[in-house]
Amino acid sequence: MNESDLIIKLEHVSKTFNGVKVLDDVSLDIKKGEFVTLLGPSGCGKTTTLRIIAGFRKPDEGRLFMDGRDISEVPPYRRPLNTVFQRYALFPNLDVFDNVAFGLKLKNTPQEEINKRVKKVLKLVSMSDYEDRDVDSLSGGQQQRVAIARALINQPKVLLLDEPLAALDLKMRKDMQIELKEMHRKLGITFIYVTHDQEEALTLSDTIVVMKEGRIQQIGTPTDIYNEPVNSFVADFIGESNILDATMIEDRKVRFIGQDFDCVDEGFGQNEPVDVVVRPEDIYIVNKLDSVQFTGTVKSCTFKGVHYEMFVNTDNGNELMIQDYNAFEPGSRVGMLIRPNDIQVMRKRCLRNEFEGEMVAADKVEILGGEFSCNAQEGIAEGDKVKVSVEFSKVDLLDNQEDGILTGTVHFILYKGDHYHLEIHVDGGGHIFVDTNDIWDKGDLVGINILPNDILITKGND
Ligand code: ATP
Repeated sequence: MNESDLIIKLEHVSKTFNGVKVLDDVSLDIKKGEFVTLLGPSGCGKTTTLRIIAGFRKPDEGRLFMDGRDISEVPPYRRPLNTVFQRYALFPNLDVFDNVAFGLKLKNTPQEEINKRVKKVLKLVSMSDYEDRDVDSLSGGQQQRVAIARALINQPKVLLLDEPLAALDLKMRKDMQIELKEMHRKLGITFIYVTHDQEEALTLSDTIVVMKEGRIQQIGTPTDIYNEPVNSFVADFIGESNILDATMIEDRKVRFIGQDFDCVDEGFGQNEPVDVVVRPEDIYIVNKLDSVQFTGTVKSCTFKGVHYEMFVNTDNGNELMIQDYNAFEPGSRVGMLIRPNDIQVMRKRCLRNEFEGEMVAADKVEILGGEFSCNAQEGIAEGDKVKVSVEFSKVDLLDNQEDGILTGTVHFILYKGDHYHLEIHVDGGGHIFVDTNDIWDKGDLVGINILPNDILITKGND
């Protein structure tokens, strides 16, 4: 991309609050005129990124460029951008016209120009008939339109929007989405939008930036992000998906749910464990016996307005979500088909838990601040630094925190068709991944235990 096409550039931006890194090495290029959405779960750092762009927060590390110029030290009011917040922040004692005109009056703009510009932006947000109305008498959607008009009156090059539709009801939100898209098209300026609503992001954006825990996971068009998620977090966060453990047999051949499938992916190792994503609308229930790849039994079938959503148990014991225009009753036997193009293969983040540990006795190792009994190993003695490896399925989670060697909180849950893959944040720092058939909820407090036979120890480098 040509640097002169860029309006905003974040370079290795990091930010820490109270010892917690909420932005970690964020680099991002935003093109002139683009509609970019920062998308991610609550607390992932979207608003902090927007505030750094606006100038309300300073990054601890990294730099921010606008039109090629380093603006890291430029105060917010000198930056050619404006922000629309979730709460409308209008002046209740002023009518619509005066709310929008406020900034221009402060700058002593001639009245004639104020009139012209206010009328123009009110037209753009479809509020021309409301000039004299008290803002308190407006609906939430109308107040947000006034807030947008007030942000646009200064003719910013970039409009920053922080969850501007979050307080509106569903119908109003949908209408406003269409209007925002239209405004963006007419104005031709850059919109940087923050939301945790994936559907909103898919509807509005030219480019989506998916964030998790202060790090960018993927940047791409809505179609890229939906069809080719780079990891299971993105796949799970964007739309409905079946995420399954799989093995890449060789180029263009992958094995999952006990079956070999042709796919289009290449460049993985032979027999490499991978994750696959298959969207529910991409699993076909077929009648023709010769095209059936695998079979199963329908467990449930729910009408969703346009399609039916079914959960089907495959014969090898996996559960798949399928969306189809036809209903198949619970209990029916069905044959299914997945096309090579509809299988998205992703590298796994890691294959087992790996920790740095220290032997505190010949048969006791300390990992993540907890002392676990382990099998004594020849050549490894008390005080040695070691590498510790534990399979995901060998970590026990306990209801009663006191029964665990370590304690932690369930942070992330991924359903993998026949088990759950959990990320546990350990109290005192660090994390452990767990594969389990037990049902836990996000936020559950757990005790963590590992049996001695399941702790694999090798000598570390001093
Ligand atoms: P949400 O959708 O809930 O607004 P977000 O993705 O926009 O979430 P941020 O508001 O950027 O997230 O916050 C990221 C993390 O930084 C959160 O854990 C938040 O509590 C923390 N944080 C943000 N601002 C401050 C602050 N001024 N002081 C301390 N912590 C902060």
